[in-house]
Amino acid sequence: MFTPCTLCHSTNAEIIRDTLRYDIKRKVLRCNDCTFVYLETPDATNQDYYTSKTYRETYGPNLKKKGSEPKEIYDTYFPFQGVIIDALKDILRPDMNVLDVGCSTGQFLSALKGKVAGRIGMELSEADVAFIRENLDFKVYSEPIEDAVIPEGPFDMVSALQVVEHVPDPVSFVQHLGKHLKPDGYLYLELPNIHDSMLDAYHIKGYENFYYREPHLSYFSEKTLGDLLAKAGFVGKIKTVQRYTFTNHLHWLLTGNPQDNFTLGNQEPILVTTDTVSPPVKQELNDFIRRVNREYIDLIEKHGMGESLTFLGKKAV
Ligand SMILES: [Zn+2]
Repeated sequence: MFTPCTLCHSTNAEIIRDTLRYDIKRKVLRCNDCTFVYLETPDATNQDYYTSKTYRETYGPNLKKKGSEPKEIYDTYFPFQGVIIDALKDILRPDMNVLDVGCSTGQFLSALKGKVAGRIGMELSEADVAFIRENLDFKVYSEPIEDAVIPEGPFDMVSALQVVEHVPDPVSFVQHLGKHLKPDGYLYLELPNIHDSMLDAYHIKGYENFYYREPHLSYFSEKTLGDLLAKAGFVGKIKTVQRYTFTNHLHWLLTGNPQDNFTLGNQEPILVTTDTVSPPVKQELNDFIRRVNREYIDLIEKHGMGESLTFLGKKAV
């Protein structure tokens, strides 16, 4: 019998894969009742996995080596926080206080500096917590959200970026996020989309082998994320977002492999980097690929195939 579905508890499931990134043998199941996709035995990846160095020694933004130090993670992701700030521009206010759960090396809270009044982080990785305490100017708690007492709350916004897919019980986790929110506060989530174009449209074998991974226990769609939020008592807007570029997708399509690092896949594409042609020609060629990239990203998002899902909403009344 299969591990029950994390969302609807049905045991009526099918196996869609039996191998994860790094050739780890573990089954990926899809619930036949609610379509939720999840790893067999999600409890096997518990919070000690994140507290210890195991996670950071295995996964990181630089794919040429295994693992990353906190400073490298911070320096890689900080320059790309602007798109998240931009997505939140209508709700951010200077008098807000924000809790970011699973804050990693604090890159998002750093980017919020000067835009909100209060910033608090929560992170299980001991190395990331030590990095924040040494280098950044906000307070970080190191216990799981289920145990945390946070006198600075309740908050005007609670965020969890690329976190929900890691927790064994997403419904309970999101409910715990809600406990730290003011009645009218905002919940903001980002997580991978299982209807990512690389899986649904292109079916790139190398990407499938890369996509499913031990720390990701859940694989949400717009539909199953909606189910989760309804169960946890939230209403709001779910969107799909594409941040990896057109040229990153071309790279995957032509080689079957990822680019070497996160930055290459996310920075605005460029065709001509040398000065062997005149500046106007260089500019015209580079403007062309930027235009194509923007149009491509719009198309992917329009069809719900962005690599991430975002949710912005509030507690249901
Ligand atoms: Zn189900």
